[in-house]
Order: sequence, then C-alpha cells, then structure tokens
Amino acid sequence: MLPDFRECSPGELPAGFEGGYRSTVPLIDMPVYLQYLLRRFREAGGTVQQQFVSSLDEIDDGSVIVNCAGLGAGELAADGSMRPIRGQHVVVKNPGITEFFSEDTGLSPDLVCIYPHGETVVLGGTAIDGEPSLREDPVAARAIVERCAEIDPRLAKAAIVAHRVGARPTRSEVRVEADVREDGVPLIHNYGHGGSGVTLSWGCAREIVGLLPS
Ligand SMILES: Cc1cc2nc3c(=O)[nH]c(=O)nc-3n(C[C@H](O)[C@H](O)[C@H](O)COP(=O)(O)OP(=O)(O)OC[C@H]3O[C@@H](n4cnc5c(N)ncnc54)[C@H](O)[C@@H]3O)c2cc1C
Repeated sequence: MLPDFRECSPGELPAGFEGGYRSTVPLIDMPVYLQYLLRRFREAGGTVQQQFVSSLDEIDDGSVIVNCAGLGAGELAADGSMRPIRGQHVVVKNPGITEFFSEDTGLSPDLVCIYPHGETVVLGGTAIDGEPSLREDPVAARAIVERCAEIDPRLAKAAIVAHRVGARPTRSEVRVEADVREDGVPLIHNYGHGGSGVTLSWGCAREIVGLLPS
C-alpha cells in the first residue's frame, strides 16, 4: 500500500543484515499527537473528565458508553482474555538522525527501532508477553541504546532525555462490538489493540460511529 516501498540495495543495509526495505511512512510523536487529538476533540465541543471507574454501571452522564480503557477495559467488561505486553523505550537527544529504522522481529525482548522526532529520537525496544510491570528497567534501557548504536553509532553517546514504559493492551483479536447495559444504555466495546492501537485507531473509530444507535 506504500507507494515508494522498495527493497534496499546491499549498500543501504547496516552490518549483519541480509535484507531490508525502504519506504516513507508517517511517524507519530505520541505526546504531540495526543495533544493534537485532545485539542481537536475540545474544539468539536467535547469535554474531558478524568476519573477511575470500577464498574461501567457507575457512568450516569452519557447517552452512549464507549469502553476503551485499554487493559482496564477487559476488567470492566469481565473479559479475562486481556493481557499486557510490556514495552520500553529510551528517548535521547537527536544527534542528527532523519530516517527511522525498524527491525521486524515480532514479539521479542530485543527489538530494535529508531524513531527520530526532530529534537529527540525514540529508541526501542522490548515486547515482553504477560509482563504487567511498568517499572523502568535500567538493564533493558542500556541494552536498547547499545543495540541502536550498532545500527547508528551516533546514538552511543546521545544524552538520555526520558525513559518510557508501557503495556500493550492485548487480546487474541480486537473487540469492537455493540452491547447494551442492563438498564438499556447503549455500550460499545473498543479494546484489545495490542501493539497496533495507533495504526487501528481511525478505522476502529469509524466502525464505532457505525455502531452508534441512530
Ligand atoms: C512500547 C510501545 C510501543 C508501541 N508502538 C506502537 C506502534 O508503533 N504503533 C501502534 O499502532 N501502536 C503502538 N503501541 C500500542 C498502542 O500504544 C496501544 O495499542 C494503544 O495505546 C491502545 O489504546 P487504548 O486507548 O485502547 O488503551 P490505552 O492507551 O492503554 O488507554 C486506556 C486508558 O484508560 C484508562 N483506564 C483504564 N482502566 C480505567 C478505569 N477503570 N477507569 C478509568 N480509566 C481507566 C487508562 O489509565 C488509560 O489512560 C505501542 C505500545 C507500547 C507500550
């Protein structure tokens, strides 16, 4: 689907790689993107109230409920099939990198990805199935920088700006489904996107609009 997708020539590959592909794809700087989405939502008349809910029955001020609470969504829907896949990133000052790099290893504690976002570069990463801890792991962080520096040596001495740890809210398949609360309030579930929630977000949102009662 990517118009300029092509196989790399041998000269374009980092040492140790037998093959690779090159393409221009959009990269999202999450803090910037989430602020943009929030602004857009507010400009469209939306309001935000942050609050922990222990049951979907607690919500009494909406005509429709959309359950999109990530890992928490499974608990709220009494769906025991959710699991975390822990991920860790290291954010460093950008030593001049303008192209992203990603090794397609699938689920692995030793991912390699380099995502430049202007002043900073996000380095990854890890994907540890079933691990719920969000505590920063300094050993994993060091290993991430070392792996990325093998691809681009400029990263070896780049100043670390932040560590980010998250849990990919994972299910065997994404659940986007219409339901009804006991009192008749329409309820739509939207969770289980694992490591692809950003990629799938606009498509799932469109599907939810189609599930709204008319
Ligand atoms: C390291 C890492 C790398 C990733 N890379 C990519 C990528 O390259 N591309 C991609 O598409 N996706 C990626 N993802 C996945 C993406 O971040 C997730 O799929 C996405 O964030 C899921 O969105 P969500 O809104 O369903 O859940 P979340 O982002 O987890 O948001 C759920 C929210 O609900 C809140 N909540 C939970 N329970 C309750 C409760 N009981 N009451 C009130 N609030 C509650 C939580 O606090 C949270 O704010 C990555 C994830 C990680 C961790």
